[in-house]
Amino acid sequence: MLTIYKKGCKKLNTEVFMEHRKLYNLALVLLLIVTFVAIVLQFFVLEKTLLLHPGNTDNPSVISDQSMGGGSVATLTEKDGNWLMECNVIITDYNWPFCEISISFFDQQQNQAGQGIDLSSFSTVYLKARYLNKGHDSLRFQLRNFSPDYGSVGNQNTWKYVGIEYWPENATGANEIPMESLQVATWWIVEQRLPIKYAVPEFDNVMMLELATGNNIQPGQYFIEVEYIKFTGKYFTNNQVLFFLIFLWVSSAICFLFFSLKWSRKRLNETEKKAEDLRQLNQLLNVKTKELKDKAERDPLTGALNRAGIQKIFTKELEVLSLIFIDIDHFKPINDNYGHATGDDILKEFSKTISKNCRFTDFLARWGGEEFLLVCPNTSLSDAYDLAKALRKIVSKKIWVNNIRLTASFGVAQRGNETPRAFIERADKALYDAKVRGRDQVVLSEFKGS
Ligand code: GH3
Ligand code: MG
Ligand code: MG
Repeated sequence: MLTIYKKGCKKLNTEVFMEHRKLYNLALVLLLIVTFVAIVLQFFVLEKTLLLHPGNTDNPSVISDQSMGGGSVATLTEKDGNWLMECNVIITDYNWPFCEISISFFDQQQNQAGQGIDLSSFSTVYLKARYLNKGHDSLRFQLRNFSPDYGSVGNQNTWKYVGIEYWPENATGANEIPMESLQVATWWIVEQRLPIKYAVPEFDNVMMLELATGNNIQPGQYFIEVEYIKFTGKYFTNNQVLFFLIFLWVSSAICFLFFSLKWSRKRLNETEKKAEDLRQLNQLLNVKTKELKDKAERDPLTGALNRAGIQKIFTKELEVLSLIFIDIDHFKPINDNYGHATGDDILKEFSKTISKNCRFTDFLARWGGEEFLLVCPNTSLSDAYDLAKALRKIVSKKIWVNNIRLTASFGVAQRGNETPRAFIERADKALYDAKVRGRDQVVLSEFKGS
């Protein structure tokens, strides 16, 4: 079946193309929005914080070098919403006197699993801590990370020391310490006899946080005030966001390519189908045109050419052209005796018989009621004469419908230097002569010159 594409029946290719364009543009805008939002969220919104201060952190413990055999004394109190550690550094045989505030992140009762907290997504720690009485002593800040790879849960000495010793600023503000500036204590690596690969800072399972006096603390009394310890960081690392955005854009590009390919293939198929439909339509129209042309040039009853159809033969510049004018003898009585329908059948059969017995190159036309014109290109008068004689014989020998016997008269002429009209009239005249001479015969007409 033919499909004609037009507006309203089916979407035009260009319309579909425009829809796809719109879709692409929309996807692109969405991508840009997602990218923009992700960047804004990453850099300005999605910040997470872990704040430790007396208001939300229960019972930090305080220890001193007494635990290692030293003589220093440390106490911890809360004052004005801050922690206040009083540290009395007393030198004994122990070489590294210290006082320390320690905040545990593990459940002291049931720490069989060695479960601390993950601080690896924090990038900065803000320490608001200072010496109240002395301005120029250092502080040690350290995180204690545990992993069964290098430590055991029960022995805190095996928990990795990751920290930094720094000079608190005099100002009342907090000290900002990038997490990446924290380092694994070398003495710990050495003491634990660990391979160098464990010297990498880790914060994924922090069991404790410690804030202690610096290494070279001199004997004396110190007051250290801690207002808060604040970790800040992103929910996602910049690399994660970058990876997400790259993944988003690359997968979108792949989708874009895939759909472009798919849609252009579809468009191509549709165009091909349309072209095929048009080709078929064209063929049909050609057939129809030919049919109409045939109809105009053919006699509907016998299928022989009509006058218009035969006309073009005469316009051809043929050197030799002969004509046989044929008229069925006494046809009227057949109609009268057997009926018009039988007459029609005979006309049809007559036309068929002549066509079958002339040459392929000859043209048969129905000139009028029971008169036929056989036009024979490239045929001499004598050949046309022979053909007419043969046809006469066939007609008279044949038994027609209803056992009817027929004869026909033939007038033969070869074209001379004359008009088609004169030529046909000459053949007609010969036919007339055949009638006059008693019918069932062939009469020749010689061209006498114009
Ligand atoms: P003649 O030997 O002199 O040619 O005699 P004829 O009867 O054949 O000639 P006439 O011209 O007197 O008659 C021709 C008849 O052909 C008259 C007409 O009824 C018949 N005829 C013409 N066209 C048709 C047709 O299409 N169908 C039928 N059945 N008869 C037709
Ligand atoms: Mg007649
Ligand atoms: Mg007749």
